[in-house]
Amino acid sequence: MLAWVLVLSAVARAGTTTYTDEDFARVRKFDAHVHANADDRVFLDVARQDGFELLSINVDYPDFPPLAVQARIAHTLQAVDPARFHFATTFSMQGFGRADWTDRTNRLIDAEIRHGARAVKVWKNIGMVEKDAAGRFIMLDDPGFDGVMAHLEARHVPLIAHQGEPKNCWLPLDAMTTENDRSYFRDHPEYHMYLHPEMPSYETLMAARDRFVARHPHLSFVGAHMASLEWSVDALATFLDDYPQAVVDLAARMTQVQYQSNADHDKVRAFFIKYQDRILYGTDLTEEPPSADERAQNPPIRPGEFRREADAFWRSDWTYLATAGVQHVDAIEADTPGLALPTTVIDKIYYRNAKRVFRRLEP
Ligand SMILES: [Zn+2]
Repeated sequence: MLAWVLVLSAVARAGTTTYTDEDFARVRKFDAHVHANADDRVFLDVARQDGFELLSINVDYPDFPPLAVQARIAHTLQAVDPARFHFATTFSMQGFGRADWTDRTNRLIDAEIRHGARAVKVWKNIGMVEKDAAGRFIMLDDPGFDGVMAHLEARHVPLIAHQGEPKNCWLPLDAMTTENDRSYFRDHPEYHMYLHPEMPSYETLMAARDRFVARHPHLSFVGAHMASLEWSVDALATFLDDYPQAVVDLAARMTQVQYQSNADHDKVRAFFIKYQDRILYGTDLTEEPPSADERAQNPPIRPGEFRREADAFWRSDWTYLATAGVQHVDAIEADTPGLALPTTVIDKIYYRNAKRVFRRLEP
């Protein structure tokens, strides 16, 4: 009897080989969502040490360096290590709605593709900041974007879309699922949408995003931050089922995944296995964040400690996704067992999916 049990468990293990913590640095990995905003080699050095390629995403975010500076840094780092450093460009909303905006934006995107850009990013300013002449929020499914999106579709350029916020942003503080969200929105009531009923609702933003994805069925769509469906693997599964051209990254939302797996480990693990071709590993690691304050929702990087903190952050995620190791996660105040995903699944989420989606574009 015991022998049979041993044979059966060996068979089960053979189908689900897993990595260990010791495998971390040697396995090829790709962080599909970082922001290398500093003109130095620190980010590349730690990526090389830990076995990562990077996709640095330029963003039209007022607290980041100006777009031209972000582009210059990306071009420089790509030239230093073109096999390891990749970047996504973005565009400004200045002049949106004017006759020449579409042509000007398409020319800018083409110029960045000639520099090696592998994708285009749109940020939550579309939906939550920018307004039209009538004072209405401009949503991503606005027909004013059609000319640019048709251009991306024709050139097979992926669009990385950060739309909305974590759902916690629309909940009262005591209903939020993670401490990092709770402390951030306590300190920043101006961004806490629960306090701002005049702003678009979570549901409004998600519906606009869904209409946009449906409107562009041939666009390679990357939903940043788990497509802002971080609160429910069921909701995210429905999104992925509805839009076969969409993939999502995990950037800055791992604690939300951990919160769910602590409630139902089997369900979350099954989600990752079922959607193993649709999930990209990403962190939102940012070198030189605008201020330590702004990091509350993102990886907690203190000035001067980027190398150490990036390494620790990447290793913690590896322990969670690749092994069964238990670690204490402060943001959810819980001991959190890892998912121990099979090596074949880890290889896709950590590398192959990103290489497929963010391939080199024809200049
Ligand atoms: Zn980001």
